[in-house]
Amino acid sequence: MPIAEIISVGTELLFGEIVDTNASFLAQELAERGVTLHRKTVLGDNLERLQAGILTALGRADIVILGGGLGPTPDDLTREAIAAALDETPQEDPALLAWLEGLYTARGREMPQINRKQTWLIPSAEALPNPVGTAPGWFVRYRTPQGEKLIVALPGPPREMKKMWREQVLPRLPLPNLALLHTTVHTQGIGESNLAELLGDVLQGANPSIGTYARKTGVDVRVAASAPTESEAGTLLAPVLQDVREKLRRWTWGEDTDTLAGAVERALAGRTLGVIEAGSAGQLCTLLAGQPSFHDAAVTENHARLITLGLTPVTLRDAGLVSEQAAQELAAGARAHLDAAVGLAVVVSTVGDNAGQAYAAIDTGEQQKSVSLNWHGEPDQIRERAAVAALALAYR
Ligand code: ATP
Ligand code: MG
Repeated sequence: MPIAEIISVGTELLFGEIVDTNASFLAQELAERGVTLHRKTVLGDNLERLQAGILTALGRADIVILGGGLGPTPDDLTREAIAAALDETPQEDPALLAWLEGLYTARGREMPQINRKQTWLIPSAEALPNPVGTAPGWFVRYRTPQGEKLIVALPGPPREMKKMWREQVLPRLPLPNLALLHTTVHTQGIGESNLAELLGDVLQGANPSIGTYARKTGVDVRVAASAPTESEAGTLLAPVLQDVREKLRRWTWGEDTDTLAGAVERALAGRTLGVIEAGSAGQLCTLLAGQPSFHDAAVTENHARLITLGLTPVTLRDAGLVSEQAAQELAAGARAHLDAAVGLAVVVSTVGDNAGQAYAAIDTGEQQKSVSLNWHGEPDQIRERAAVAALALAYR
């Protein structure tokens, strides 16, 4: 099994200004592929410490993956550090220079001189094309008495890093010959700790392994198994996955690439959906965007307008806009006034004493359901949670 280390580069990581999500992405990717990760390190933009960090990691690991520090500015020092660690001299690569100049020309600009170092290579390095940015990565093969070691340098922006990892790095890595199968079960309405209790001992298993991840749409449960062949991996995965599915059935809205809005679309079974949002700033519409049944919507906090949409003045006066009664009246109003078969409404407060309070309601004509939600957080988060809670009402 190859052994890897990750070095995340950037003083802003040390200051805690940004969270090292790149390292957690890479760690999961490596684990899935049978590469053993021994260390994750964070280093600032400092040439000496980077050089020392690379050398130390090379002494312990077969694969050293660096993220960040490939930009054009003087504090981007990853290339310099690798070159110094291997005692090699960087040189501009004519093909990379032509490519980068071309990028700028295509945008009607001239390439700034400071970008030239993004066209550097050292003799042991192969360039990894960057399809979404200006920083090519490096794939370095370095011979040592113990055999070949690899250094991979990727840009810091997560979108660039992930794309290049998948498209450029993975095909070049000497990966153990393992088939990996995994399924992610999406849940809603159950917290991570309750879920862990419910799953019990299976969570301890190493193969299949089970991970739980809190997402804005609820908690995801990922079950993964690896084995020399796909059918062996399937045999390992099946009983555990079945167990997880059964235990979580009540809360499950989909698997793998399913979306919550897609689950709602399935539940609607061709009926049209009308949406009224008060206080969630269109979050629910955003989540539903593109679904064929999503018929019409009103996004407003204007009381007079909400009354024309079905909210009664009595409810507004006695219970207030952010109340269960108001959500129910607006769900019925969405059917009546937006000409939809199913009405979905959400009312949210993000400020004042009841900040974080939200209600969602659904009205199908035959059935009315509502839910109350109290979420302490930033206004954006409250709106998003409320919209997800509304969708969660609609997928069952
Ligand atoms: P650039 O060309 O953008 O300068 P770079 O390779 O030099 O790319 P950095 O300057 O280190 O990368 O980081 C650029 C941005 O990428 C950071 O401001 C941050 O938003 C994001 N980023 C960098 N490292 C990480 C990380 N480890 N986890 C999550 N985001 C990161
Ligand atoms: Mg940078």
